[in-house]
Amino acid sequence: MSKVLYKKDIDIPVIANVDVLVVGGGPGGLGAAVMAARNGANTLLVERYGCLGGMAFHGEVTPFMPNYHNGVPMDRPVFTEWCQRMVEYRSAEEIANAPENPQLFARAICKEDAMLAMEDMILESGAKILYHHTLADVIKEDGKIKYAVFQSKSGLAAIESEVFIDATGDGDLAVLAGCEHEFGNEDGYCQPMTTCFKLSHVDRDRMPDHAVINQLYDEAKQRGEIHCLRENVLYFHVLEKDVIHFNTTRIVKKSGVNAIELSEAEIEARKQIREFLRFFRKYIPGFENARLHSIASHVGIRESRRIRGIVYQTKDDFFNRAKYPDSIARCNYMIDIHNPSGTGTEIHRIDGNDWYEIRYGAIVPAGSKNLLMACRAISVDHALHSSIRVMPPVCTIGQAAGIAAAYSVKEHIPVPEISGTEIHRRLDELGAFL
Ligand SMILES: Cc1cc2nc3c(=O)[nH]c(=O)nc-3n(C[C@H](O)[C@H](O)[C@H](O)COP(=O)(O)OP(=O)(O)OC[C@H]3O[C@@H](n4cnc5c(N)ncnc54)[C@H](O)[C@@H]3O)c2cc1C
Repeated sequence: MSKVLYKKDIDIPVIANVDVLVVGGGPGGLGAAVMAARNGANTLLVERYGCLGGMAFHGEVTPFMPNYHNGVPMDRPVFTEWCQRMVEYRSAEEIANAPENPQLFARAICKEDAMLAMEDMILESGAKILYHHTLADVIKEDGKIKYAVFQSKSGLAAIESEVFIDATGDGDLAVLAGCEHEFGNEDGYCQPMTTCFKLSHVDRDRMPDHAVINQLYDEAKQRGEIHCLRENVLYFHVLEKDVIHFNTTRIVKKSGVNAIELSEAEIEARKQIREFLRFFRKYIPGFENARLHSIASHVGIRESRRIRGIVYQTKDDFFNRAKYPDSIARCNYMIDIHNPSGTGTEIHRIDGNDWYEIRYGAIVPAGSKNLLMACRAISVDHALHSSIRVMPPVCTIGQAAGIAAAYSVKEHIPVPEISGTEIHRRLDELGAFL
């Protein structure tokens, strides 16, 4: 690839100065911003798009995967509050029908509700939000991050902060700050990308069961009518009775942090969606009049970078149900590795109501002084990442980062020197399940 010298020595405006800057408005950013602000920090969340939600909105992901103990969500208080606030946007009919299927009511995500509820919570916490700014660079002084630099319609601008929180999902901020990271499995491939979509005008009562749909899907693949590497059709019911949600396209061997490959992935995934639409209308009873209800505006990224922290956790913690005094979150969602290079999904479950724990040091990037991770890109191996990555635990990881950041500012203790057991204690006091 040819290169061109780009002159960057220019003055740019400093548009804000805060205690805690959270970059990224997904589930992790929600936890971080709310908890930093509620704990007294002057907090700003910056998001590249015009609304919050991350994968819950732009990736059209639903439902919340279960991370339960005795049937009760372990992710609290921010995640459970988020769920409650979403209910405020549901229709009277949906609320009245809730007892019919409480699981669906509790776990199905309507992306607009999720996005509005997030915005409500963040603004009510006292944190501010700045949309349409994409992180482009950082400026460091004395080994600390001093400014984050953003690209927007207005050009470049800097924001100064005491503590920075990376909630980009991909570890963009940490990498710009020079932190080390891992990527993918032993072959260097991440879990596949998926563009989620929904079909409406479906007669659910006439839908055949999974086995029949999968049989017809296999036959369509053999005839060359569908080009998707997924082993079966992954679909979910949502609250609207005539709508089915699909999490089933599969794009392999592309990187979520390579913009050209991302663009290719968007096109390839939508080719698959066209094939699925034709397939469902033609072969699956109940879908004769189906139409596209919605398509994710951003290809779904399950995995990209994992930022190396002062603590590194592996799948052994999952299999040993490891518990730690400096834990910040509990997780028992399964190891769920969609094959990074082809067909199949590797699954390992935790039986009963046990869990393993995520440690404070896994959200503190090694070598950083004032940076915390509040997203899926924490310091874990490929297999453990497949368990922690779902929205409930990511939101809980975020809330720990928010509390630690506010504590760092208030007590003037650098982030890596904070005692993880102190953060554990504070989380416990604030209603976390630890
Ligand atoms: C296809 C798919 C299906 C999934 N299914 C489920 C499921 O059923 N249930 C479940 O619970 N989880 C599911 N997950 C996992 C879950 O959605 C994600 O792991 C989770 O959303 C991660 O949260 P996050 O906050 O780390 O990142 P994200 O949700 O990706 O949010 C990151 C935010 O940061 C912003 N951002 C990124 N880079 C920048 C930048 N440079 N500057 C400014 N802003 C930036 C983004 O716009 C985004 O808003 C699924 C994921 C995928 C991809």
